[in-house]
Amino acid sequence: KQAKQQGLGYLFFDARMSRLVAEKLELESKLRRALEHQEFRLHYQPKVCLKSGAIVGMEALIRWQSPELGLVAPVHFIPLLEETGLILTVGDWVLQQALSDLKGWQCYGQGLRIAINVSALQLRQQDFVERVELLSQQDSDVLMLDLELTESVVIADVEDSQRKLSALRMLGLPIAIDDFGTGYSSLSYIARLPLDTLKIDRSFVVKMTESQVDKMVVSTIITLAHNMRLKVVAEGVDNEQQLALLRELGCDQMQGYLFSKPLPASEMTQLLKQKARLNH
Ligand code: C2E
Ligand code: MG
Ligand code: MG
Ligand code: MG
Repeated sequence: KQAKQQGLGYLFFDARMSRLVAEKLELESKLRRALEHQEFRLHYQPKVCLKSGAIVGMEALIRWQSPELGLVAPVHFIPLLEETGLILTVGDWVLQQALSDLKGWQCYGQGLRIAINVSALQLRQQDFVERVELLSQQDSDVLMLDLELTESVVIADVEDSQRKLSALRMLGLPIAIDDFGTGYSSLSYIARLPLDTLKIDRSFVVKMTESQVDKMVVSTIITLAHNMRLKVVAEGVDNEQQLALLRELGCDQMQGYLFSKPLPASEMTQLLKQKARLNH
């Protein structure tokens, strides 16, 4: 009887679903090939200090340079990398690539930092801290990295996060909460984590010059961050009005198209060179 019931379920597995599964399998095999053929790239978006206007760091953002599809944005492949566990290998690559690019940039500004996005699977690895620690013994530049995690990643296992984030911070790696304000996490959990930075989600920044509610959300996050002795970064700043308002509200740093889109490493080098010349 049970077999019959299972058989019925199978009937409902319709053509549309099987097409979706086939597409997913195809993308998965393309991603494995991409890894093998080194088709992933890192682009970098500068982070700018609102007081001084100086570039204080950048965020590494992954791209897939596919021979068939062109330059593919992370929304189209990160979820599948996470689902298949490939994100662990890709995450290690991101770390190494960012460290290697950073070496070429340190001459343009001491204390220049690179932020890396860490996904749930990476943080949940039992030996995540040890891996970073090992790296920091081999390469002290790892201390110039910041880790960005979303609320949902840290909240998935609060105790585990607390332990690992404390250990990482003790090693000297600052932790930022990415897309802050969009998660469903309780503020009391967030407040108990050893953090350094809150990044205000772009959705609030985009609307804050038109909507009082969004302006209030941004202003509240900035006050909250400062009360918690955290730095606050606004993401997705793409016009002067937003910039002016963020200055007025006391935001510390910004990222966004207004200053620069994410750039390939070579263009980032040009930008840093140009800035260095201006300062002399
Ligand atoms: P995120 O970490 O919140 O990154 C910010 C996203 O906003 C980036 O999209 C960036 O290009 C975009 N952005 C920045 N300024 C502006 C602006 O002024 N206007 C607009 N319209 N967009 C702006 P991107 O590069 O497509 O990355 C999307 C997400 O993919 C990231 O969101 C992050 O969650 C994830 N991601 C990217 N790289 C990695 C990685 O190496 N590992 C992991 N695990 N996730 C990554
Ligand atoms: Mg990020
Ligand atoms: Mg973000
Ligand atoms: Mg975001």
